[in-house]
Amino acid sequence: MPAWALLFLSISAFAQSSIRGFPPPLEAEHRQRELKARLIPEASRIRTYMQRMSAEPHHAGSPASRAVAEYALGLLREWGFDARIETFEALLPYPTSRVVELVEPVRYRARLQEPILEEDSDSGDLHQLPTYNAYSASGDVTAPLLYVNYGLPDDYEHLKRLGIDPKGKIVIARYGQSWRGTKAKVAHEHGVAGCIIYSDPRDDGYFRGDVYPAGAFRPPHGVQRGSVMDMPLYVGDPLSPGWASEPGSKRLKLEEAQSIMKIPVLPMSYEDASALMRHLGGPVAPEAWRGALGFTYHVGPGPAKVRLKLDFDWSTRPVHNVIARIPGTDWPDQWILYGNHHDAWVNGASDPLSGASSLLESARSLAEMRRTGWRPRRTLLFALWDAEEFGLVGSTEWVEKHQEELDQKLAVYINSDSTGKGGIGASGSHSLEQFVREVLRDIQDPASGKPLLEARRPPRNGSTATPEEFRLGSLGAGSDYVAFLDHAGVSSLNLGFGGEGGGGVYHSIYDSFAWYTRFSDGDFTYGRTLSAVTATMLMRLSGAAFLPFEFGSVARTIQRFSEEIVKVAGKDAGKLDLRDLNTELGKLAAAAKTLEADYQAAARRDSAPPDRLGPINEALYRTERAWTLASGLPGRPWYKHHLYAPGMYTGYGAKTLPGVREAVEAARWEEANQQATVASGAIRSLTAELGRISAMLRALP
Ligand SMILES: [Zn+2]
Repeated sequence: MPAWALLFLSISAFAQSSIRGFPPPLEAEHRQRELKARLIPEASRIRTYMQRMSAEPHHAGSPASRAVAEYALGLLREWGFDARIETFEALLPYPTSRVVELVEPVRYRARLQEPILEEDSDSGDLHQLPTYNAYSASGDVTAPLLYVNYGLPDDYEHLKRLGIDPKGKIVIARYGQSWRGTKAKVAHEHGVAGCIIYSDPRDDGYFRGDVYPAGAFRPPHGVQRGSVMDMPLYVGDPLSPGWASEPGSKRLKLEEAQSIMKIPVLPMSYEDASALMRHLGGPVAPEAWRGALGFTYHVGPGPAKVRLKLDFDWSTRPVHNVIARIPGTDWPDQWILYGNHHDAWVNGASDPLSGASSLLESARSLAEMRRTGWRPRRTLLFALWDAEEFGLVGSTEWVEKHQEELDQKLAVYINSDSTGKGGIGASGSHSLEQFVREVLRDIQDPASGKPLLEARRPPRNGSTATPEEFRLGSLGAGSDYVAFLDHAGVSSLNLGFGGEGGGGVYHSIYDSFAWYTRFSDGDFTYGRTLSAVTATMLMRLSGAAFLPFEFGSVARTIQRFSEEIVKVAGKDAGKLDLRDLNTELGKLAAAAKTLEADYQAAARRDSAPPDRLGPINEALYRTERAWTLASGLPGRPWYKHHLYAPGMYTGYGAKTLPGVREAVEAARWEEANQQATVASGAIRSLTAELGRISAMLRALP
């Protein structure tokens, strides 16, 4: 091949895979550095971090949690980061008494304890937090037992059709389908006296595969701990909604805290649940309600009668966030932040240490790059959050404390949490969809060698058509991005691998190093790939002359959301007035197109001086703030974002255009139309911002 052909080939390959926001002269050098950075992460180091941090139970508020924070702090300092621990204090109740007894027709006292397994020495560790649901109410109730399937609003509708009144009963619901806090809340709204949530073997136990230690799935006495805070109302410390809780700061009284559950709630193993449920009478449960326990499922209520007695210490405990930074050279007041929590319910090898260990290796890789002369142009921050498990407490208090500064400076928040093996999951702000697509295009899946963008995304419905176009999912309330996105209006992403391997040790003592290395990403190849993905993202975001936001995806996504809402309205769609919203969407799409042309033109030219680019980039990242309105969402003012929110009745699950959508779902048409007006206003201000940024770009030399 003649030299000119080679040149032509390399230029065309180059043009196809350009990196957003890097003018060509900067891009070539950046690409070389990125390739180098992606070779740094080592599986063996990720393994070591995990082994060290999962050696002891380290729930939030415990000395072991502080020790994990200090271990991470030590590493970050050793690597040359300016790092420190920022401490808050929050209500983190531990249980002092847990009793579940079957009192009729026979007596049985629930074990409520996970046995030690010879094959997993960590299962015998001291200082394990007992099995419980954080922010359950204290209480002592005795009542007939009633089975409510997953405890969804629809399940209670079904009970109503059967003529069964849940009022005053103790309900038993299975985990799955909805978030556990929602099950407790829905139970309370139906006048239930107490709530037990158990893991049915059909959902993550022997029905799915061999149970631990033979296989990955939940053993008979395994219990899923977890918070039942009313997260869709607000997250973080229940006693300080909207402000940081520090020693001496204002706190609500316990009885004023709205996010604490009003009834006693306790999680249970299927071994214990089976001993209660086999004594249920009444109608046989509908087929869809039946799990995999070895008897015919009955709904009740009774004759099984249960006593549920719970007490908690309602103590305030310290919360330790680790924050590390590399200052930016050109725009030190523009920040890119990557966080993962470090607290666990017990040993937490998978949740959260798989993600936290990958984060540490990503941080080390960038520290290594710094030694070779690379410098981020924007400031890079790494965070290891505490008390995520209780209700995103560490990250939320931090956001509330630094809100004014974050509003000015924080451009993007990246989050990870548990990560395993399989396909990559990516959710977040749709203004970053194009950015994520490019990163996944440039990094290979370790198993197939294909770009992550193409790997393991079989088309839906088993069709053989070309795989669907990559789309970011929307963020609900599953991890520490909530305060950033929903409260502070910071563009956010959440990333992690999963889908292969399966498992049933979530939030139990069996989420251990032994389990993870046998049944999840045991050789840490995906953990290393996640480090490469996040390091690449951080280098691009901190180094780009023009931050890689793109708004055509935003306009298209909102269009899809609004079509979904029309579908939800169904035959009542005529009561919904989305004309304004659609007009504004049209204008947004046009402004996004113009901006994209101006952006590409500016990025093709030589880079303008940093002081000209600073304000343009600040305007770019602050576009996400167009969605946050001071008044917040109806009935939950802490949630400011009008494009994304966790659903009031889906918990972790996201609702898009939440103000409109939830009003439509509840057939509150006046509110739906008011909220459509509010959303139209937000779109209008976003469009105006895009116009302003276009003008700034065109004015560049
Ligand atoms: Zn987690």
